Amino acid sequence: MLNESYIRVLDVDLGTGRVRALRRPDLQRYLGGVGLATALLTEYVRPDLDPLAPEQPIVIAIGPLSTIYPAVTKAIAMFRSPLNGELGESHAGGRLALAMRYAGYDALVLHGRAPRPVYLYVDSDQVLLKRADTLWGMDAEEAGRVLRDLEPGRGHRSIMRIGPAGERLVRYALVNCETYRHFGRLGLGAVFGSKLLKGIYISGDCDIPIPNVKEYNRVYTEIYRRIVSTDAMQKYHDLGTPANVLALHELGALPTRNLQSGRFEGAAEISGEAFAEHDLMRKVACSGCPIGCIHIALLRQQFGDEHEYSWTGISYDHELLYSLGSLLGIASRHGILRLLDRVAQKGLDAIATGVTLAWATEAADRGLIDTRELGTDLSFGDVEGYLKAIDAIVEGRSELARHLALGVTAAARHYGGEDFALALGGNPVAGYHTGYANVLGQLVGARHSHVDNGGYSIDQKPRELTDEEIVDGVIAEEQERNALNSLAICMFARKIYDRPTALAALKAIGIPWTEQDWVDLGRRIYREKVALKESFGFSYRDLRVPARFFETPSMRGRLDPQRFAQLLELFNERLNAIRVA
Ligand code: SF4
Repeated sequence: MLNESYIRVLDVDLGTGRVRALRRPDLQRYLGGVGLATALLTEYVRPDLDPLAPEQPIVIAIGPLSTIYPAVTKAIAMFRSPLNGELGESHAGGRLALAMRYAGYDALVLHGRAPRPVYLYVDSDQVLLKRADTLWGMDAEEAGRVLRDLEPGRGHRSIMRIGPAGERLVRYALVNCETYRHFGRLGLGAVFGSKLLKGIYISGDCDIPIPNVKEYNRVYTEIYRRIVSTDAMQKYHDLGTPANVLALHELGALPTRNLQSGRFEGAAEISGEAFAEHDLMRKVACSGCPIGCIHIALLRQQFGDEHEYSWTGISYDHELLYSLGSLLGIASRHGILRLLDRVAQKGLDAIATGVTLAWATEAADRGLIDTRELGTDLSFGDVEGYLKAIDAIVEGRSELARHLALGVTAAARHYGGEDFALALGGNPVAGYHTGYANVLGQLVGARHSHVDNGGYSIDQKPRELTDEEIVDGVIAEEQERNALNSLAICMFARKIYDRPTALAALKAIGIPWTEQDWVDLGRRIYREKVALKESFGFSYRDLRVPARFFETPSMRGRLDPQRFAQLLELFNERLNAIRVA
């Protein structure tokens, strides 16, 4: 076994300050990551209480391979989402997994509400709640800078923090992790804010014992070789996911102006190719990743007369260029970078922000809302208006702003316009309008994310798929990803960590799992997530898809609502079988 104490959970009650380091070998059957977080969330969560109730837990977990194999860099957060009221799950890279590994914890569980603003300090020897009154109100970047000064040291450490959006409980606030990585989806930032938790500092210097160094070296070297010496990961390092912008536009699958179209006339201007040529400053990597897919662009802004400029590094990827670019009709790279800078400072999820603003723009056009309440007009392509609207939403300046802070689904429920509110299962959608599997995958996926089951990728198979192939494909992929995410690998490296490789990597550190163990784990997590969602009131029988997804032709042509209803029916049949299996 890698470590006899695995699994070790740090349980912190933010209300009383009580701290417990718990050995939980009973949870080894979940491996770690998503499996471990699902088990701990099930144990701690209160389905009868509001997502922002003090009792609700935040679970953050890593996996047994974290840090000791290449590209195993993710930490998994699970919580009850304040955005859609059900299963909140978000993954972040950076240095957090490394810091948790060296601090000696496989999972953190935080619950309770601090009596005043605090940040949590964790190292290998001590756990402290420290006062954060002076940090409260700071934007995410400034708070990070001050925390770095307050807690000197380098190396195996990670700094998480929220910005004003989290403090003010904007339901799609994120948690900033280092500078360029985030727990972005489903509102973890608001959960931090509800607990008066401004941030977490974690570091460590534990030994990591490897039982069979020779075998470990062999497996490690082979994985590393496949990452750096084959072309499997080249596309992520080269243009990165922004390469999708132009490709999806050409396929008619790039959501544009609130999905009024799948093609954007400004796609070339905001493409990965254009960013690489004009704006790319450098590429960076999560700790322990030899790929380096994080693309950083230079944002240069004039702040005074006589040629006074500031510069900022802004990370960009496909989802960001879609949500604060094509979806808002913005064809200016500089404009997108300014919006990205603003949401990063405020601590907002870019996808949810873009989807909410796109809905508001169309709702204003149709006379459903009056954007003078935001202190600005909104029109597609107008960066200045969107910047003002973001500030108004975070500051809750009006009734409209406060409704928009609850998310696009809640705002559309209040003002009307649900047919063009681009959320599935209450989670604003990612930047692919590829076909049936994409819509179905996000609608029935555990966290309503495109990465739950890769429906957008299933749509891109060369031939038309049958209903059975779509439904079975979505379910099988989600079960497989549940197992993979229990290792907390970066999903970009999923083709490197195929089943035999994942099992060999586990075996080399003393976890001799079989293929059947692996399959069983993926299925068990799937079932347990379904049970969690249903305990929060989610019904797979009562699902709604906004009409816009059927009105605007996808990559596969116009989607037929009747066929989609058949797919859902079939999905529910399969789910019933899974429940009783
Ligand atoms: S591929 Fe990118 S996101 Fe994934 S671990 Fe490497 S740098 Fe981080």
